[in-house]
Amino acid sequence: MSSDSTSSPTRFATEIYASRLAHAAEYAGQAGLDALLVTPGPDLQYLVGSRASSFERLICLVIPADGSSPTVIVPRIELAALQDSAVGDLGLVITDWVDGVSPYALVAAVLPSGAKTAVDDAMPALHFVPLAEKLGRTPILATAVLRQLRMSKDSAEIEALRRAGHAIDRVHARMGDFLRVGRTEAAVAHDIGAAIVEEGHTEAAFIIVGSGPHGADPHHEVSERIIEAGDVVVIDIGGPVAPGYNSDSTRTYVLGEPSAEVAKQYAVLERAQQAAVDAVRPGVRAETIDAAARDVLSAEGLGDVFLHRTGHGIGLSVHEEPYIVAGNDIELVEGMAFSIEPGIYFRGQWGARIEDIVIVTADGCESVNLRPHGLAVLPTT
Ligand code: ZN
Ligand code: ZN
Ligand code: ZN
Repeated sequence: MSSDSTSSPTRFATEIYASRLAHAAEYAGQAGLDALLVTPGPDLQYLVGSRASSFERLICLVIPADGSSPTVIVPRIELAALQDSAVGDLGLVITDWVDGVSPYALVAAVLPSGAKTAVDDAMPALHFVPLAEKLGRTPILATAVLRQLRMSKDSAEIEALRRAGHAIDRVHARMGDFLRVGRTEAAVAHDIGAAIVEEGHTEAAFIIVGSGPHGADPHHEVSERIIEAGDVVVIDIGGPVAPGYNSDSTRTYVLGEPSAEVAKQYAVLERAQQAAVDAVRPGVRAETIDAAARDVLSAEGLGDVFLHRTGHGIGLSVHEEPYIVAGNDIELVEGMAFSIEPGIYFRGQWGARIEDIVIVTADGCESVNLRPHGLAVLPTT
């Protein structure tokens, strides 16, 4: 059933954005910077709730590290759209510009000369290059500064991730209506796409329907392959729910009863996913979570068919920090949100993956996806 769209605000309360801006300025200062320069993308959405898109005309939020008021440089024709975000309520300085004016000079004008700046990692080269020229000093990436903020989700973000998780769970719950013998992967994906929107997402960001041998390719999307009785099918789906937080959940289905071999290998995958979930708590390193899943699979001879990292952070972006991967020694803290998605892939035969989004709590984690983990048996008729 469709969710009530009024339960999904298009942005959070203004105080939340005020606090994020203050923290961004503070972290920029600690990093020895004079200012952060943020163009449309997930970072701008995080900081002021604006979903503006980046075009050839520069929109740039300038956040001085000294705590003085941020400035928004914006083309006059985009001004109305920007006022729909928290910018209008935050009391930021707004400098609008018209075609013919150099917006890069306007950015430089609010900064001390030779300022040390950092830019968001989604800034197009179209803007970065002329901006760097005008500033006379090449900016660095603001990724490290901003990830300190964005990695640890506040209660409003956690609630948004829960809404997204429950919305994608409702799509998986309807899979028996879509995934049937004789249909193509593309037809199944088409119906899933409609259901993703019906259940409360603003759009379907990605739909993977990997049937039979296609399930062995973790990057397979959809094809004209016709689903057959006995197929194991990997369904990995998600998208944003207002105000922009993403769902991402994988379940594996089988048309008819699975073979003994499939059932046996899948049971190991289920244990591996659970072992990784059980390892999550504050203070544990991201790489330890990856190892928890990998060790279970390796002990059963399946280490070589687990082809990718165990997970990725999620929020306003589907993939963001922290990455749950060997070599990442970052320590988990309460409020971090990431996927736990081990998979097993038998080339030319079949594959399986189980993916939930979890949020680190004081003593463990909460999963926002609550669908059963077992291989979901669907009828063949
Ligand atoms: Zn996924
Ligand atoms: Zn994922
Ligand atoms: Zn992915």
